[in-house]
Amino acid sequence: MFWRGVLHGLTPAHCLVCGVPVQEAAAVCVACWQKLAILEAPVCNVMGTPFIYDQGDGAVSAEAIAMAPPWRKARAAVLFDDTSKEIVHRLKYSDRTEAGLFMARMMARAGRQLTAEADMIVPVPLHWTRLWKRRFNQAAFLAQHIAKGSGKVFAPMILNRIRATPPQVGLDAEARRKNMRKAFLVSAQSQIKGKRILLVDDVRTTGATIAACVETLKLAGAAHVDVLTFALVRAPFRPHIED
Ligand SMILES: [Zn+2]
Repeated sequence: MFWRGVLHGLTPAHCLVCGVPVQEAAAVCVACWQKLAILEAPVCNVMGTPFIYDQGDGAVSAEAIAMAPPWRKARAAVLFDDTSKEIVHRLKYSDRTEAGLFMARMMARAGRQLTAEADMIVPVPLHWTRLWKRRFNQAAFLAQHIAKGSGKVFAPMILNRIRATPPQVGLDAEARRKNMRKAFLVSAQSQIKGKRILLVDDVRTTGATIAACVETLKLAGAAHVDVLTFALVRAPFRPHIED
């Protein structure tokens, strides 16, 4: 199309990973797309981790049974590696809109079932001191766009981070877990009671921060909490370690 060409001539689009010119904005080139470790079915219904072969709908991994995370289902669009890391960094430090739109699109696809089963979409909150320094919560950006695309309620003010990093020294696993929960506070319990919540973040690492958010929302009466992230770090689920 002529006008498309003109538009692209004015604002050339670049691959979010390697920077080569691409046809569409908020996209990656073919070579980088092929390098992305996209997570598709079959995956563990609880952890969202890939299965080598299809074990049927709702199949759960040994890790999920052993660790029993507090969320109902978690999904991620891609594995965290050098390629996806580049996109995550772009959302945090530069091309925010472009990288964010790409990530939100991939997440909407990976989490379409979770989104359909949710009443509201809640971002993992950033502590206000960090928000002030960076002036941007990448989880909120992603949650807002996923909510917009699915017609679900975007609820960025319901879950708040009241402490940056609770001291964990000298605490056992259970005490650390309880301590992590102290970092988060629900501001409007009545709005959460009985609601199905989809918690959104950019990356899921050890799961400690996300687990603390999930537990806080469940203690406030959420019917269930699912978790959707852009990337998933292949590390054991360790809810007592802060990430
Ligand atoms: Zn590229």
